[in-house]
Amino acid sequence: MGTGKTTVAPLVAQTLGLPFLDTDQELERRTGVNVPELWRTRGEGVFRELEEKLVRELLSDGVTRVVSFGGGTVTNRELRRWTLERATLVTLSTPPSMLHARTRAQGDRPTLQADDPLARITSLLEQRRDAYAECHLQLQTDTLSPEQAAVCVVERSKRESIVVPLGTRTYLVDVVDDEPSLLTGILAAMKPSSLLVVTDKTVRAARGVALESLLGPLESPFVEVVLPPGEEHKTLASVERLWQAALAAGLDRDGLLLAFGGGVVGDLAGFAASTLFRGVRVVQAPTTLLAMVDASVGGKTGFDLPAGKNLVGSFHQPSAVVADVAHLSTLPRRERLAGLAEVAKVALACDEGLWRDLETNAEALRDGEPSVLVPTIRRAIALKALVVAEDERDGEGRMRLNLGHTVGHALEAAGEFSRHLHGEAVALGLVAETLAAERMGRAPANTADRVRALLVRLGLPTEIATNELAAAWPFVSKDKKRVGQTVTLPLPRRIGSAPLESVSLRDFARVLGLGDAG
Ligand code: NAD
Repeated sequence: MGTGKTTVAPLVAQTLGLPFLDTDQELERRTGVNVPELWRTRGEGVFRELEEKLVRELLSDGVTRVVSFGGGTVTNRELRRWTLERATLVTLSTPPSMLHARTRAQGDRPTLQADDPLARITSLLEQRRDAYAECHLQLQTDTLSPEQAAVCVVERSKRESIVVPLGTRTYLVDVVDDEPSLLTGILAAMKPSSLLVVTDKTVRAARGVALESLLGPLESPFVEVVLPPGEEHKTLASVERLWQAALAAGLDRDGLLLAFGGGVVGDLAGFAASTLFRGVRVVQAPTTLLAMVDASVGGKTGFDLPAGKNLVGSFHQPSAVVADVAHLSTLPRRERLAGLAEVAKVALACDEGLWRDLETNAEALRDGEPSVLVPTIRRAIALKALVVAEDERDGEGRMRLNLGHTVGHALEAAGEFSRHLHGEAVALGLVAETLAAERMGRAPANTADRVRALLVRLGLPTEIATNELAAAWPFVSKDKKRVGQTVTLPLPRRIGSAPLESVSLRDFARVLGLGDAG
């Protein structure tokens, strides 16, 4: 309230040629009572219920419009997150003193009934800080004219960004096709004191021109670290190189790391950022499909030790993620296809609709057609964002995304991480774990056939020889999700649903034809 919404929102509607509606005014029209009166006579609870019903109606009736919410609408977490999936959500904000002056002039505001309205405004803003930060754009309106504010909102509404809503650590993920200027603009707007660009040698050679074109217009000074490529370099020595380079370049707390590469670069740069000065910003610019749909989103960072992969790490959310599918043009086909396994995984675990669309578009996806790839990547990321928003730190919700990974990791480890790419091992794991679910009576018959058929069409491997599986089995027994003689893993109940379950290692081995290997 008092931030200029009532002036700015109709201007946005006018510019976009869309209808405009204010939820408070609409409620007043429908109930025949003004909002303060509604609060007084029926209480805040009833008001909020009516408001929620109205918002849900307005965002699902198929009409594109500009809606102005009441200041408290987005404090309902569920409604806010539901809105974020369906609309561009913009929060306008203004310093408390200015809000106080404006709202005093405007009169009756039920939420501001207090002896000291300024203190009340300050405390409301504090309480709502996380809620207001979960949006596509937070716009400070005190230094902008209504017309300037409207231009910012209109520009924002043209981008189809995915929001990862995590309170004041909220960030946006953009998926674009050959638009280096978007990342340039995002970096420039973050005004880093300096920039450490992290990439690897192969990516530098393949995408150097694109990297230079996006860094060229930036005013912030930058230095580049080009790491040797590959999982074998996801080590503490690489992290140390990043720390040293950052310090040598004079990076300070307002500095920023840009991870420009696959999941290895992203994990290393993310970890270095999380530890430098106990945490500086990192922006992820993934250049592999796997990193776009999985590694760059969600804030897991880390490096490998001889004892195992990803044994040291941290949670450190990026400040932004920009996935430009143009980078995939130089990615070896095998690497690109491996990334599709993670898309199939998230669909099998969480979204039957996406699975069906993968079945419809399998060949176009396999061939890397950007027109199909861009919306598919967006949907896979949106699903991951939902899971991360509900469960940032690897609780049960996020563990659903380990589907296919229990057997997959074991196959990778048994092949000493050179026989299968990670995504290929995940594809094999998806088939094996779905088959196990089917044979244990959890998933309907033929689910594994359907999984296998899609993966084949996506160009992924699906057949594991029994002796290879047997050789990998000891690694299943060593899985970090093992407790005693059971292992906890997501098991498909059907396409689109894979709840966590504890299964006995012995049963798991038996249904996969390994006798008593468990
Ligand atoms: P990667 O980073 O090793 O990249 C694969 C290969 O492709 C490398 O040789 C790289 O140099 C090359 N490459 C990358 N982009 C290219 C391009 N555009 N053109 C040409 N070559 C290119 O591997 P990956 O598959 O991207 O990621 C795997 C890593 O991600 C693993 O270390 C895994 O642990 C990690 N990961 C992390 C998360 C997470 O949540 N943090 C999730 C999944 C995977």
